Amino acid sequence: MNVESRTAMVYAESLQEIRPYLNRFFINGKWEAPIGDATHPIIDPSSECEIARCSMANQADVFRAVEAARSRFESFQFASRDDRLSAISRFGSAFQMNATAMSELLAIELGAPIDLAKDGHCDVVLAHVVDFMRALSDFRFEERFDDISILRHEPIGVCGLITPWNWPPNQIALKVLAALAAGCTMVLKPSEVTPMSAALFAKIVEESDLPPGVFNMVQGTGPEAGSALVGHPDVAMVSFTGSTRAGKSVAALAAQNVTRVATELGGKSANILFEDIDLPEAVQRGVTYCFENSGQSCDAPTRMFVQRSRYEDAVALATTIAENQKVGPPCENGNHIGPLVNSTQFDHVQTMIQKGISEGARLVTGGLGRPVGHNEGYYARPTVFADVSNEMAIAQEEIFGPVLVIIPFDTEEEAIRLANESQYGLAAYVESADMNRAARVASKLRVGTVRINGAPIPDGAPFGGYKASGVGREGGRHGIAEFQQVKTVAQSVSSQLSLCRTQ
Ligand code: NAD
Repeated sequence: MNVESRTAMVYAESLQEIRPYLNRFFINGKWEAPIGDATHPIIDPSSECEIARCSMANQADVFRAVEAARSRFESFQFASRDDRLSAISRFGSAFQMNATAMSELLAIELGAPIDLAKDGHCDVVLAHVVDFMRALSDFRFEERFDDISILRHEPIGVCGLITPWNWPPNQIALKVLAALAAGCTMVLKPSEVTPMSAALFAKIVEESDLPPGVFNMVQGTGPEAGSALVGHPDVAMVSFTGSTRAGKSVAALAAQNVTRVATELGGKSANILFEDIDLPEAVQRGVTYCFENSGQSCDAPTRMFVQRSRYEDAVALATTIAENQKVGPPCENGNHIGPLVNSTQFDHVQTMIQKGISEGARLVTGGLGRPVGHNEGYYARPTVFADVSNEMAIAQEEIFGPVLVIIPFDTEEEAIRLANESQYGLAAYVESADMNRAARVASKLRVGTVRINGAPIPDGAPFGGYKASGVGREGGRHGIAEFQQVKTVAQSVSSQLSLCRTQ
C-alpha cells in the first residue's frame, strides 16, 4: 500500500479547508462539537491511504439536531414562497462559488475523476437548483376541490434525510432542496464514506443564510446515527437513498412510529437493443453509461439484451469499447474512470466477477484483479460477460462496478419478460428505430424511468423506482410533493372559503 495520497496532495488546499469541519456537526446554525468521541476513517480510494478522520454522531447528537429542526419548524412551515425561492437561489450561488472545492473533495474521497466530478457531480446540483426554483414558482399549495372546499398542500414537518456515497451532492441536493421548497426543516445524515463533500455541502447551506435549525447535518454511521434519526418520534418523514437491504430496515423501523418513508434503492437496469438500430452507436452508449462513475450508479444499464441477429456483433463491439476504456487517477483530466470507492466495494465486485466465471458466463474482457499499471488503489477492470442467462447472480444482483452482462433474446415479448424478471425496477433503456415498438415496450416495463435511444432524463422529471428499487419520486414538482401532507378544508355552503395561503 502507498503511504501517500497523490490526490490529496494535488488538492491539498481544499482538504485543509474542510478538515476543521470534519469534527463538527451543523446544528441550529452552528458548527457544534460532537457529544461522543467516535471517528471514522476517510480513505482515498486511489491510494488506499487514510487521509483524515471524521467524527461520528451518537444518538444524543442526532436528538440535538432533531430538536433544532423541530423547534424551527414551528415558524418555518409558514415561510413564504418568495423566502424559500430566495433561499434556494442563494444556495445555488454559494454552491457555484464552491464547485471547484466540491469537485476536488469528490476526487479525493470518492475517487471521481476531476472532470466527471465537475461536469457530472457538481453541474447536476446546479441543474437541480434551477428545476426546484421553477417547480416551486409554479407549485399550487392551495387548490379548490369543489365550490366549498379547498385542498392545502402543507409541509410534512421535520425530515430525516439519509444519503449514499455514489453521487453525494446530487443525492443530498435532491432531498434538501425539495424539503426546503416544501417548507420543511431537516436533519441530514450523509454517508460515512463521503463525509467531506457532505461537510462542504453543509458549509454552503450555512453561506446561504437560512434561519438556524432549518437545515442540520450530523455525520455518522447507518446503524447508530441513521437508526436514531429514523426512530425519532419527532421525525415526520424519512427520505432514504441507499441499498435495498438498508432501505428495508429503515422502513421497518419507521413503521413503529408510522413515519412516512420515501426510498430510492438499488437497480439492475435493462438495456434492450433491437436489431433495427445503429448498433455501434447504441452499444457505445450502453457501455459508456454502464461504466460511468466506475459503474457506481443506481440506474446504470448493466443488463444489455441484444436481439439474436445482432448479438455476436454487439458482444464484439462491447469488448472493444471495454478494452479501450481508460482507467486512471482521479486527479487527471479526461474521460477515464477512476477507482471504486473502497475495499468493501472492490471486494464485492471481485466476488461478483468470480461468480460470473463460476456460473459459466463467457468472460470476453476484463476479469479479476486490477487493470494493468495499477498496483494499488481500488481500481477494477472494465469487464464484459456474454452468454449470460438472466437467472445468473451477475444478471440479478447489483454489482456496482464496471461490469456489463450481455444476454440474447429473440422476440419483443421475450425482451420485455426478461427485462421485468428482476427484483428491481429503477430504469430501463430501449434502442429501436421503430418508435411505435419503443413506446409499446416502454409501456410494459415495470420501471420508473425509460430512456429511448439515449434520450436524456428531462430536467425536473420524477426519478424513482418500482418494486425493490424503492417507493417515492425525487426531482421537480413530484419531489416537492413527497415532503407534503394534503389537508382537505371543507365548510358549509353559506360561508365559502377563500384561498388564503399565499405561498
Ligand atoms: P447503504 O444502504 O449502505 O447506505 C446508504 C445510507 O444509509 C448511508 O448514509 C448509511 O449510513 C445509511 N444506513 C445504512 N444502514 C442504515 C440503517 N440500518 N438505518 C439507517 N441508515 C442506514 O448504501 P450505499 O452503499 O451508501 O449506496 C449504494 C446503494 O445506493 C446502491 O444500492 C445504489 O443502487 C443505491 N442508490 C440508489 C439511488 C436511487 O435513486 N434509487 C441513487 C443512488 C444510490
